[in-house]
Amino acid sequence: MISETECGQIQCVGCGCTDVNACIDLGGNRCRWAAVEEEEGIGLCTNCAVKPLDQLIAHGLFP
Ligand SMILES: [Zn+2]
Ligand SMILES: [Zn+2]
Repeated sequence: MISETECGQIQCVGCGCTDVNACIDLGGNRCRWAAVEEEEGIGLCTNCAVKPLDQLIAHGLFP
């Protein structure tokens, strides 16, 4: 079985979580990828996807 994570670590641009180190939302659920840029090796997890985008940009976290 081939895991997607083995072809490159994706890191969230919002909080820095990864496939192997997912963050936990307020409901106790592991985050998932809301968007992934595989070529860049970056993604946006579901926890960060609900944050205001301008907040991410203000912190320089959104490309
Ligand atoms: Zn995140
Ligand atoms: Zn996350």
